[in-house]
Amino acid sequence: MIVTRFAPSPSGLLHLGHAWSASLGWRRARDGSRFLLRIEDIDPGRCRPEFDAAILEDMAWLGLGWWNGVRRQSQHFADYRAALERLQAMGLVYPCFCTRKQIEAEIAASAAAPHRPLGLIYPGTCRTLSSAEREDRLAAGENHAWRLDSAAAAALAGPLSWQEEGQGTVTVDPLVGGDVVLARKDALVSYHLAVVHDDALQGVTLVTRGQDLFHATHIHRLLQALLGYAEPAYAHHGLLTGSDGKRFAKRDRSLTIAALREAGHSPDAVLAMAQALAG
Ligand code: GLU
Repeated sequence: MIVTRFAPSPSGLLHLGHAWSASLGWRRARDGSRFLLRIEDIDPGRCRPEFDAAILEDMAWLGLGWWNGVRRQSQHFADYRAALERLQAMGLVYPCFCTRKQIEAEIAASAAAPHRPLGLIYPGTCRTLSSAEREDRLAAGENHAWRLDSAAAAALAGPLSWQEEGQGTVTVDPLVGGDVVLARKDALVSYHLAVVHDDALQGVTLVTRGQDLFHATHIHRLLQALLGYAEPAYAHHGLLTGSDGKRFAKRDRSLTIAALREAGHSPDAVLAMAQALAG
């Protein structure tokens, strides 16, 4: 049985690109398979209940029905914390006290700022703190995030790969994102940890999502291996672009599902528009 999912963040209205992505997952899960809807609302600064409600309304209107209830990540912080604690017990994460400004300054000061597909690489400042200093600063209540020690994690996990539809075996580069944040100062858990936890818990066998998350999959496979989670297959799809060649963003109002619905288009017409843009 194939289990797919659509996992939007309720930080804006769904647009044609989301409809395309959701419909790809939905189509793969017909005939006895399951398509899940998961609301990734871990970021309290960006997520809004009205966008959560709009996602459900748009998905139902599009006819992209989902199996058995909606999982909302904001209701499961304890699960993600437990996963983080397992990595802590393995000695693979460390507290990072750096502010964004400090990180930027450190990177600017270094001659070769490593810029990789997932953005700037954390220079590792807090990785080398002594355990005494870590404990003192934690005990003093200093604000911190938790980062993965990616080199240690890679050494423990050994060589990894994933199956990408249409491409075959992709070799994991476990250092692609550097020491990524797994628990954030402001949001308790990062996208990477929450998404691998939930894909495993929900038995997702095929992750269909945009090409913009292709490089995140390196990190996801590493976390899956460390946490002993099952390995889904992946199908990253191209991103829809407008006539100007730019990606749709949540702020582009005219191509939101809600605006297209209000303009009188039918669900089939909206899905056909998405299909036409995908080429
Ligand atoms: N929540 C993510 C987003 O809205 C997608 C997560 C995923 O599909 O893995 O961009």
